[in-house]
Amino acid sequence: MIEFCILGSGMAGSTIANLLSKKSSVEIFDKARGAGGRSSNRRFKNGASFDHGLQYIFPKNKLFKRFLINLERKKIIKKWEGNHLDLTLRVKRPGNKYIGKKSNSDIQKYLVKNISTNYKSSIDKIIYKKDHWVILVNNKFYRCRNLILTCPYPQMLTLARKYLKKNFLKEKIVMQPNMTAMIAIKKDYNIPVSSIRFKNKILGWATNENSKNRFKTKFNLWTIQSNETFAKKIIKKYKKRKKFYLQVIIKEFLNILGLKNSDIFFKELHGWKYSHNNEPIKLNSYWDKKLRLGICGDWFNGPRVEDAWISAQDLYKKIKK
Ligand SMILES: Cc1cc2nc3c(=O)[nH]c(=O)nc-3n(C[C@H](O)[C@H](O)[C@H](O)COP(=O)(O)OP(=O)(O)OC[C@H]3O[C@@H](n4cnc5c(N)ncnc54)[C@H](O)[C@@H]3O)c2cc1C
Repeated sequence: MIEFCILGSGMAGSTIANLLSKKSSVEIFDKARGAGGRSSNRRFKNGASFDHGLQYIFPKNKLFKRFLINLERKKIIKKWEGNHLDLTLRVKRPGNKYIGKKSNSDIQKYLVKNISTNYKSSIDKIIYKKDHWVILVNNKFYRCRNLILTCPYPQMLTLARKYLKKNFLKEKIVMQPNMTAMIAIKKDYNIPVSSIRFKNKILGWATNENSKNRFKTKFNLWTIQSNETFAKKIIKKYKKRKKFYLQVIIKEFLNILGLKNSDIFFKELHGWKYSHNNEPIKLNSYWDKKLRLGICGDWFNGPRVEDAWISAQDLYKKIKK
């Protein structure tokens, strides 16, 4: 029997898996094609590559900073320099912005590299049997002593509601959406910025992927995120009118940059239903010692990848107690 089954290989899942694997047998199941979760990278047949989730890491927590400095030494991540334009004019906190050396899922890939992982493996049902868990993955059953869930809150609730303590069920956690457009435009337009934070009715943020100096491309690649208000308006209906909403986002972006629609070679839109939670709760993670059920994820602590890491560290301490 597996000691720890872990659902998810995002920052929370890969961190807790890495910590537990030092002394226990661990197996990861992720419905995605690889590690990363909301920090994943999208690569297209034409060679264009976009960090369409996590944009960059800007650490606050001392231990997390130390963790990143160590990863920088190992050449897993690097500093993201250049001209970061902030049109919201808010006061800037000093510090380094970090990105993955090859893509923003590099940290997760590094953390799970020696762990048994099952991708394209969705956990569809969990059942508690006296002293162990049975999980259903792609019509196959697995047994494990401990079960750790690291998916966004609503997905966790669907799977585990009947096993959760009443107090925890009282928590109000609302995950907000995000719309992300990915575009390739003519290389002749050398736009000398690495990123733009907007104060705009549609847009929230844009990253110039070329500024990350990871690979050669004949395009100018941009990842463009909507703001939260716009995403909330369209997240439930965008799939039916994908082309239209993609064009709405692109048009706004091109207008600001003074570019023409005809200069676009490639475009794609991704909707994140559960992008982030703005309202942290008091708990950093959840551990039911009796059932041996653990839960961690960014949404306990806030909207950023650092929050997922802190949550996983907290759960690890609880399990080891
Ligand atoms: C558009 C966007 C931009 C962001 N920008 C930033 C930023 O600039 N800076 C920052 O710090 N943070 C940013 N974030 C937030 C950051 O990406 C998250 O905080 C972090 O990645 C969350 O990690 P996690 O492990 O908690 O969850 P996730 O990364 O969501 O991991 C959960 C994993 O569970 C898997 N899963 C779900 N259900 C199942 C199932 N039933 N069976 C098997 N597997 C399942 C998923 O495939 C996923 O891999 C951004 C997020 C988004 C969406």
